[in-house]
Amino acid sequence: MRPCLPLLLVSLVLPSGPALTAADRSPSPAPTVAERLLVRGLEERRAYDILGSLLKAAPSRMSGSPGAAAAVEWGRKTMEELGLETRLEAVTVKAWRRGTAEARILKSPKGGAAVPLAAAGLGNSVGTPAAGITARVVEVNSFDELDALGEKVKGKIVFFNRPMNRTYLNPFRAYGEAGDQRYAGAGRAAVHGAVAVLVRSLTDRLDPHPRTGMMAYPETGERIPALAVSTLDADLLSLRLKEEPDLKVFYRTDCSPLPDAPSHNVIGQITGTEKPEEVILLGAHLDAWDLSPGAHDDGGGCAQVLEALRLIKALDLKPKRTIRGVLFMCEEFGGQGGRQYAQAEARRGEKHLAAIESDAGVEMPLGFGIRADEAVVQAFQKHLPLVETFGMFFIRRGYGGVDIDPLRESGTVTIGLATDAQRYFVYQHGALDTLDKVDERQIELGAAAMAALACALAEEGLPAVP
Ligand SMILES: [Zn+2]
Repeated sequence: MRPCLPLLLVSLVLPSGPALTAADRSPSPAPTVAERLLVRGLEERRAYDILGSLLKAAPSRMSGSPGAAAAVEWGRKTMEELGLETRLEAVTVKAWRRGTAEARILKSPKGGAAVPLAAAGLGNSVGTPAAGITARVVEVNSFDELDALGEKVKGKIVFFNRPMNRTYLNPFRAYGEAGDQRYAGAGRAAVHGAVAVLVRSLTDRLDPHPRTGMMAYPETGERIPALAVSTLDADLLSLRLKEEPDLKVFYRTDCSPLPDAPSHNVIGQITGTEKPEEVILLGAHLDAWDLSPGAHDDGGGCAQVLEALRLIKALDLKPKRTIRGVLFMCEEFGGQGGRQYAQAEARRGEKHLAAIESDAGVEMPLGFGIRADEAVVQAFQKHLPLVETFGMFFIRRGYGGVDIDPLRESGTVTIGLATDAQRYFVYQHGALDTLDKVDERQIELGAAAMAALACALAEEGLPAVP
């Protein structure tokens, strides 16, 4: 028989085992700063609301676009409302017009049906002639395979179809290994006279949504257009090519690169009481690809930066060193905002001890990854108890973040919030990166953990390396 509810509650609350000793009854030690940040964060859960506010004010934030300008204005206003010392720093960013994109397998003389392919332009791609391109398709899985075909791809569409390796535990590793097709595929195919490229979307899931992302052209050579195709349609096209190697695809897009544009990094800080020129930076990127509102990539990171600063103010903590939030612009087109931040005149006289970035999705935080020598990573182990406060369990070597990476040149230790990234490439750069995929508690835990590590570093400086 199940106990009735009151009995069940009593049994859960009462301690079992031996009676309490005097030591057990003594008052518990005062909560640590990390514990106070945790409790306050979970109590108020504002990170999720801040993210919702960003996605409402600026649902589309592609670098150089009016939506990105709206995001900058939102950032400035929100930071001021939080009582942070706020300013904008001018940066020059990349810009690109998506326009429209279409691709379809044409009906073949042998009776194969016409099939539209779910496709989207890759950022920075040039367009096709207005009438589009009709051409045969050559499937390849690597640049080696492409180079071996050489002249045989002349006048054709090269179809890069190497999937992300789903056997890796770390999906970022698989992303990194498959990324060359998207980034450099068009340039490599153009060398052999190809007229366009189709690239399998960088996700390990089979679904109908194309994923965009940055591509680039070599300095010299023909510039040919590049479209991503959904993984489902990539499989379909591959299958059809096996049956009908000479099938043709119609391919048209009017996307085009635009001139560089003015924009801003958004900065808000709590100035240090004793060493204001020494900075602990919390960062994320404000721009996002435009096929979704970019909830995980990286609106959520921006919300965590703001929430971390809000929590520090809410607890009336007075850091000895400056804790600065920076919402960077133009990460997705190559990290222009981060580079210009590191090189700005305003950095003179400042010393950035550490920078912590959130740009790995805002799911359950697992630990911190540090891009530094093993000795530095070892020294940071003193903060492991702080990290464990948030249910996280490691500080280890890893990657900091695209936006903060340029600060390494001047000796900054760069640190990335590491999360459970198993679902990240379901969302990233496609239509599925929306607010409903974000969990209120997980995003909050990441924000509070960033706040806690920033407070510890602002108080004590970097841990001494033996
Ligand atoms: Zn990102």
